[in-house]
Amino acid sequence: MVFCTKDIDKLGYKGIKTCEILFENYEVPKGALIGAKEGVGFKQVLGGLELGRVNVAARGVGLARASFEDSIKYTQERKTFGKPIGEHQAIQLKLAEMGTRLEAARLLTQNAAQKLQNGERSDLEAGMAKLYATEAGFKNAEEAMRIHGGYGYTKEFAVERYYRDAPLMLIGEGTNELQKIIISKSLTEKYKI
Ligand SMILES: Cc1cc2nc3c(=O)[nH]c(=O)nc-3n(C[C@H](O)[C@H](O)[C@H](O)COP(=O)(O)OP(=O)(O)OC[C@H]3O[C@@H](n4cnc5c(N)ncnc54)[C@H](O)[C@@H]3O)c2cc1C
Repeated sequence: MVFCTKDIDKLGYKGIKTCEILFENYEVPKGALIGAKEGVGFKQVLGGLELGRVNVAARGVGLARASFEDSIKYTQERKTFGKPIGEHQAIQLKLAEMGTRLEAARLLTQNAAQKLQNGERSDLEAGMAKLYATEAGFKNAEEAMRIHGGYGYTKEFAVERYYRDAPLMLIGEGTNELQKIIISKSLTEKYKI
């Protein structure tokens, strides 16, 4: 039997339900084997990680882009001290950093995706893209919330949701702490003297 024993509430990603699953005396029929061959499951899972990391990197880029685009629009609409907030230098610095972060994340992700599509080894590139793009999404979501001021903390604007959804990407598909370890090992192998 398979049981869903409890629903688990989360900070973000409310569109997907998360629950604890219990398998009790559950036999999986042979025909339900995932992958063509028995005994190589771990290898297959590891092989899927490259694709998974590019996928999460692309989600990081999407989050960085949405945060940037909502912010650059808002900075032209919201006025304080007689002018749009985008004319205050403190906000301009944020927009410059957000836009640059977005562009760098996008290029790293495109590079990793291209290598993967060409059938080339792309573990290093996929790891770098995942690390950078998800941190970019997280940082841009935070800056978007700050730029929106009090509204950024309310559900009146989507930036509140971006801020809650962003942290999962730092954890999923290999935490960013582990990602750094993998990147460092790959770099040492690549630049071995
Ligand atoms: C709703 C939800 C959906 C998820 N979906 C997916 C998914 O689709 N795909 C996916 O891959 N993951 C997904 N995850 C993440 C996954 O389930 C794990 O949470 C994640 O792999 C981290 O493992 P852990 O929670 O056991 O943390 P732990 O391994 O206990 O880590 C705790 C902390 O210790 C650090 N740490 C652990 N080991 C080391 C080490 N050797 N060196 C340095 N630091 C270390 C970690 O970086 C982290 O900061 C999801 C998580 C949630 C909450």
